[in-house]
Amino acid sequence: MANTRTVTIINGDGIGPEVTAATLRVLEALKVPLEFEFKDAGSEIVAKFGTNLPHETVEAVLRSGVALKGPTGTVVGGGLPSANVGLRKRLDLYASLRPVKSVPNVKTRYDGVDLIVVRENTEDLYAGLEHIIVPGVVESLKIITEKASTRIARFAFEYAKKAGRKKVSAVHKANIMKLSDGLFLDCCRKVGREFPEIQYEEVIIDNLCMQLVKDPTRFDVLVTENLYGDIVSDLCAGLVGGLGLVPGANIGERTAVFEAVHGTAPDIAGKGIANPTALMMSAVMMLDWMDLREESKRMANAILKVYGDGKVRTGDLGGGATTRDFTDAVIAAL
Ligand code: ATP
Repeated sequence: MANTRTVTIINGDGIGPEVTAATLRVLEALKVPLEFEFKDAGSEIVAKFGTNLPHETVEAVLRSGVALKGPTGTVVGGGLPSANVGLRKRLDLYASLRPVKSVPNVKTRYDGVDLIVVRENTEDLYAGLEHIIVPGVVESLKIITEKASTRIARFAFEYAKKAGRKKVSAVHKANIMKLSDGLFLDCCRKVGREFPEIQYEEVIIDNLCMQLVKDPTRFDVLVTENLYGDIVSDLCAGLVGGLGLVPGANIGERTAVFEAVHGTAPDIAGKGIANPTALMMSAVMMLDWMDLREESKRMANAILKVYGDGKVRTGDLGGGATTRDFTDAVIAAL
């Protein structure tokens, strides 16, 4: 087919292969002009490749410029560095974008949640710079730079402008971490001045968490450092019905990786009951990012129609549908 573009597919670990296969079925039913190249990453391939992130996988994403990725597992404490963090570093995927939106018929405490978490992906405590000073004392370094903070602030404001959003809230703890979070805020303020049409505010992270659970509808676009963003993203996922629903993207200057917010869900892996919505919605974001706007809208509408009809629900949302049942319903709704 003319103009067929390649997308790198990374199945990942746990429920990754199940939700990825489900998403690919929908993309195939949509007849998108895409070709899929499968590459490996994650903890389940370590025995075969001696690494959780083969060079070949990174090269493939660099070539295609876009990947759709299932979750990859990490060992808590010890073990190899996370494949996710490695991929973000090697591809310089500096911005994590997580839209959090209420889903029709998924009853949660709040209706009308519609916010975007923009998280800096490359530094902060995630730089992985830890060492033992003396036995029993560990130092972990929080790195915040003007360059990365300015870049993420600009990404957040430009995104807000393009998406017709009204407000950007910078998340911080500069009352305690005066230098690091202070620098982050300075950068956000400076960039914010270039966007007078967008309201700018600053929110302390602990206050933000309280405000989010009291009234999430008062927020629009949140811009955060790496660690706060990681935590706030999961909190926000909980506001709209859980991890099975929330999509995400990690975006760099030349490449983008689309993946669900959730992890490998080892408790339900292999049972065929995972909710594939989060990865399907990540694919919706991917199509939009690739300028396949019509297809993106059609896919989003089909998923939302299944929720709107209220008949087919996976177990995480109190239903009895399998991954396959849900996928069949989305394809039927196309
Ligand atoms: P990891 O170590 O990979 O982060 P985890 O189990 O700690 O795995 P998640 O995978 O995010 O974290 O899962 C948290 C909980 O949410 C689990 O009970 C899991 O079953 C559930 N969950 C996550 N994703 C889904 C999904 N797509 N469908 C159904 N349940 C899910």
